[in-house]
Amino acid sequence: MLKKKITRRSWAEPYKIKVVEPLKMSTRKEREKYAKKAGYNTFLLKSDEVYIDLLTDSGTNAMSDRQWAGMMLGDEAYAGSKNFYYLWDNIKKYYGFPYFVPTHQGRAAEHMISKILIKPGDYIPGNMYFTTTKLHQEMAGGKFVDVIIDEAHDPYNEHPFKGNIDLQKLEDLIKKVGAKKIPYVFMAGPVNMAGGQPFSMKNVRAVRKICDKHGIQLWFDATRATENAYFIKEREKGFKSKTIAAIFKEMCSNFDGMWVSAKKDLMVNIGGIIATKNKRVYNEARNMVVVYEGLHTYGGLAGRDMEAMARGIEEMLHYDSIKARIGQVRYCGEELAKYGIPFVKPIGGHAVFLDAKKFLPHLKQDEFPAQTLAAEIYIDSGVRSMERGIVSAGRNKETGEHNYPKLELVRLTFPRRVYTQAHIDVTVESIASVYQNRKKIKGLKMTYEPKYLRFFQARFKKL
Ligand SMILES: *Cc1c(COP(=O)(O)O)cnc(C)c1O
Repeated sequence: MLKKKITRRSWAEPYKIKVVEPLKMSTRKEREKYAKKAGYNTFLLKSDEVYIDLLTDSGTNAMSDRQWAGMMLGDEAYAGSKNFYYLWDNIKKYYGFPYFVPTHQGRAAEHMISKILIKPGDYIPGNMYFTTTKLHQEMAGGKFVDVIIDEAHDPYNEHPFKGNIDLQKLEDLIKKVGAKKIPYVFMAGPVNMAGGQPFSMKNVRAVRKICDKHGIQLWFDATRATENAYFIKEREKGFKSKTIAAIFKEMCSNFDGMWVSAKKDLMVNIGGIIATKNKRVYNEARNMVVVYEGLHTYGGLAGRDMEAMARGIEEMLHYDSIKARIGQVRYCGEELAKYGIPFVKPIGGHAVFLDAKKFLPHLKQDEFPAQTLAAEIYIDSGVRSMERGIVSAGRNKETGEHNYPKLELVRLTFPRRVYTQAHIDVTVESIASVYQNRKKIKGLKMTYEPKYLRFFQARFKKL
């Protein structure tokens, strides 16, 4: 007789641990001291003071033994490194774009694409903004216009593709400003600022049609495209039996070109990509890269970095790899839900976004609920997360008042292949324990405010 009936069959991470990086443990008392010293800003903690680091999934991934072995094959020739050609081959093979320029990271690619395509006074519609993307579009003289579906702005709407573009909003903008004023439409997938939400294949095909009708280019922020392909396989009719690699390539085929921060999907610590079908854009980017990054066959990277990227592309498209990546994030969300902890739905591809307004309803928004919650979680267990609320939103340029965003979120972002399910359990139990004692939590007061991107360096005091 079984003592306990089997009610589930678990999946596990599809890798085992060969090298370990010891973590420093600390006591609550020590963390109270560290938090105070860091002005209750998780960006100002030393990584040594952190136990489980969920600040970001950018460049924080674990490389495989195959990638590390590839690093030893780095060809550090100034020109024409063989690692560059291997990476280029994989970009053609898996993304399907014939032309490629390497960059040192994603924002360098965004900088060049914005400079090449945008004229002052242009409009650039996209499915919600991303900080660096928008900044480069604006610095090139363009104006970003959000044309994402309304559901994306509602944290509890369970739409399966909250990253979709609202076709009517896009058509309306084209009608209003004219196609000549729109150099390109861009889509990111999944959309970070909406909570890691994907777009559907049906939606990108429809956007492509509209762009073709008006002679507008369509560009892809393919930084987390593997996650988007996984959601399409899981949620969209007609894709269940297709491989991730096939869906991925079909998705990319709708675009004129893409930029990528390799620090995410490709499971490396540094790197970026511009790739396109457009020969003119390619030639300009290939010329511009020598000004800002380095020769067009290394673009600010070492040969060994390009080798790790090329191998990362092969690994990221394995079904088991992406399933476990999204599975870890989902596991965290499902466990949090059992305690009734409020977070953005559906659970995203790379992160769980806690709803700090609901978590700490007794705090006013100018007592910084998300900043407070991130600090409290850190003090409780050494888990580091990130504020996405009023501090990140900055001040209104004209009035000097705080911008009051609708959402106060705390982002728990999972690096790929770094933590185990036990780390997630520790994280969930810590947040649940903070939740249980939430009524006693007091807000913060800002004591130092830098002029630009204040969330990185602002300091606070407990009220
Ligand atoms: C990280 C990121 C970028 C910027 O890339 P960096 O490598 O950090 O410069 C651009 N777009 C998206 C969607 C990102 O997540």
